Amino acid sequence: MNAEAIVLRTWPIREADQIVALFTREFGKLKGVAKSAAKSRRRFGGALEPMTHVRATFLEKPRQELVRLDYFEILRSPLSLAVDYTRLSALAFFAEVIDETQPDHDPNDAVFRLLLSVLEAAETGGVWMPLTYFALWMTRLMGWLPELRRCMVCGEALDGEALGGAPAYFHALSDGLVCVHHRRLASGTLSPESQRLASLIFHAPAGALLDEPWPRERARDLRRFSVQTLERHLERRLTSAAALVKLGG
Ligand SMILES: [Zn+2]
Repeated sequence: MNAEAIVLRTWPIREADQIVALFTREFGKLKGVAKSAAKSRRRFGGALEPMTHVRATFLEKPRQELVRLDYFEILRSPLSLAVDYTRLSALAFFAEVIDETQPDHDPNDAVFRLLLSVLEAAETGGVWMPLTYFALWMTRLMGWLPELRRCMVCGEALDGEALGGAPAYFHALSDGLVCVHHRRLASGTLSPESQRLASLIFHAPAGALLDEPWPRERARDLRRFSVQTLERHLERRLTSAAALVKLGG
């Protein structure tokens, strides 16, 4: 069998053998054994790095959880670009969110397409726009994102720019956004500019946002809100998100 897939992570099992977790377009997330992966550059050379886009050839075995991975053809490698710590941290974030949110053997074409589009955008420009785009869209594709344009408590419109620059507020223990009257202690704030960007992200493909400069400060509050929403529903902290925060993201 074969499938279009993104490599999520690998870990050794014995000698040169590796287990590889893949997110495939056709079959969802699955794990397989790459025998002699460390030795066989012909079959897997360079293709086992997280976020490598491959066509994977594999064999399913009856009554076995792990497939046998035979060969990876690289379609797009994150290593074709200079890789620095920030970029690696971004790739780790994509991998961790996919790994945590996607159940085994449950394909999700919308998530797969989102991932491809942000990987492509991250190759062309910096990582902060693709990270923001991905984190916000994942909350939505998982069904975890309520209406962002109204206060969750009173229903008042949250349109910062129309309302003279009023921010919206969010909190780790509740869903969605609230108005100034219903914010809790220790809430995060979402600026009017980031409210506008959230709306833009839902109406434009990632590639359309590549022309805008996107330094790490831009929409940092929107990334925090999105990550907090993901973590709240996953009921765990994302290690890679903490690494991005240390980088100022
Ligand atoms: Zn309110």
